[in-house]
Amino acid sequence: AVPLVVAVSTSMSASHGLLVRDRAAFERARKLDAVVFDKTGTLTEGRFGVADIVLLADLDEAAALRLAAALESQSEHPIAAGIVRAAKERGLAWPPADAFRNLTGRGAQATVEGRDVKVVSPGYLREHGIAARDARLDALAAAGKTTVFLVVDGSAVAAFGLADVVRAESKAAVARLKAMGMQCMMLTGDSRAVAQTVAAQLGLDDYFAEVLPEQKAEKIREVKARGLTVAMVGDGVNDAPALVESDLGVAIGAGTDVAIEAADIVLVSNDPRDVAAILGLSRKTYAKMI
Ligand code: ADP
Ligand code: MG
Repeated sequence: AVPLVVAVSTSMSASHGLLVRDRAAFERARKLDAVVFDKTGTLTEGRFGVADIVLLADLDEAAALRLAAALESQSEHPIAAGIVRAAKERGLAWPPADAFRNLTGRGAQATVEGRDVKVVSPGYLREHGIAARDARLDALAAAGKTTVFLVVDGSAVAAFGLADVVRAESKAAVARLKAMGMQCMMLTGDSRAVAQTVAAQLGLDDYFAEVLPEQKAEKIREVKARGLTVAMVGDGVNDAPALVESDLGVAIGAGTDVAIEAADIVLVSNDPRDVAAILGLSRKTYAKMI
């Protein structure tokens, strides 16, 4: 079977840019029942724009963006890139940040001008009992925007509403997979409101929201416990344990090295429709051999 698979993966490489790292996993692909996608950068563009700034204390938008950019210029998260871009677009300059650290799956933290500055998820605020009540925040959630909070010396002083876009290819990918009898699901660290909006737009069968990086593999185990053979599609460092836990780990796009190492199949292009192509190809290849 080896030469055949090599031939198949080679011809796929030509058309789709696909690398089979584990032949047994490629064979398993024909038996899949479910595909779980990472949200950001896989189903969505992963390009966040700051759409709203909600002030929760006595400061202006420029001051909020300047502090947030000081911190986020040190981060590689797509949300951080969106905040830095917004600050640049407004012609803002920002001070240096010291003692930067990632609060993995929750945000980032640093010292800026002697103050403790964080940009964090709604989940982080809940965990730490930091108050942020404002009707304008409910409107952001209802609009399906990703909301993060600027926290200075322990108080939430502003919120940023960020908009990401569902990729056109994602809709086609989900429709094709469902037509092949697959359940399509999504795994994200983002809020329930955002996950719900994306799930509805794509017609997903199920989703898991506010999943911390260390819980992603556990969610794959949960899907397996439903008696389903499952593929996981992701690109981030955080996705690696879930890629390993799944029956077929697929790293997509310009995935991180860690994700690529953890995956059974690597899609060189950033097109979720190629996942349906893998399944179709596995079915065709191994049907002929029986
Ligand atoms: P996913 O890969 O599913 O989008 P992550 O685990 O990367 O999720 O992030 C989960 C959440 O943590 C984000 O939705 C955001 O609220 C928060 N977060 C993580 N890193 C940052 C950051 N650098 N700046 C702001 N928020 C962040
Ligand atoms: Mg991700």
